[in-house]
Amino acid sequence: MAPLTINDVRKSYGALEVLHGVNIDITDGEFVVLVGPSGCGKSTLLRMLAGLEDISAGEVSIGGRVVNALQPKERDIAMVFQSYALYPHMTVEQNMGFSLKLARAPKQDVRDRVLDVAKTLNLEDYLQRYPRQLSGGQRQRVAMGRAMVRNPEVFLFDEPLSNLDAKLRVKMRSEIKQNHHRLKTTTVYVTHDQVEAMTMADKIVVMNAGRVEQVGSPLELYDRPANIFVAGFIGSPA
Ligand code: ADP
Ligand code: MG
Repeated sequence: MAPLTINDVRKSYGALEVLHGVNIDITDGEFVVLVGPSGCGKSTLLRMLAGLEDISAGEVSIGGRVVNALQPKERDIAMVFQSYALYPHMTVEQNMGFSLKLARAPKQDVRDRVLDVAKTLNLEDYLQRYPRQLSGGQRQRVAMGRAMVRNPEVFLFDEPLSNLDAKLRVKMRSEIKQNHHRLKTTTVYVTHDQVEAMTMADKIVVMNAGRVEQVGSPLELYDRPANIFVAGFIGSPA
């Protein structure tokens, strides 16, 4: 785990600024949920943390080190996407071991590590299957497993449960939290679902139109919303 600091971060696409100076301090091992309406800049911010998007201005530090100029693979960060982005022509085992293979880890080490992670995710019986032979929840677990094998200090999730049905979504929320506690990673979790935010977060960051409206614990936001937007957003049904 590592602290993560987002200091006056801005993002422009051409002349259009979509993030207008975002400040967020995340401590070691914290589970932070970024929540806000569609288009407010959640994914853009997450992609900047991951190194998938240039930072137009400001600074991102991980573990006290400024990472603005570092490639994704130099950041000790793993990201799980909404679409899972599994490789369809690879088995579960190959999907999960791929990043280690790229890093030229010895074959036996890759196998051991993948089996280890697969066991924690209840996937050990599915290692030889292909993504199309799995349920939605299993695919989501493979996507998490693929991120976990590298033992990253920081985990980023971009709406990882939005393709699942309501019942499975609730189950996966608690699985993700259990994993977070077991692995002791720092986690930034994006959702547009305020119920998900309220139930999962140590700390919630409410975003709107490229700005942070409020940062606080679920209880603080519920009891003392900073403005009408936060009150309306937190109070409205999912
Ligand atoms: P969210 O994840 O909160 O739904 P996004 O981060 O995807 O929002 O988008 C924030 C804003 O940035 C939106 O107005 C979107 O249209 C714009 N945007 C995102 N990616 C690009 C891009 N590659 N080029 C231009 N505008 C973009
Ligand atoms: Mg998004």
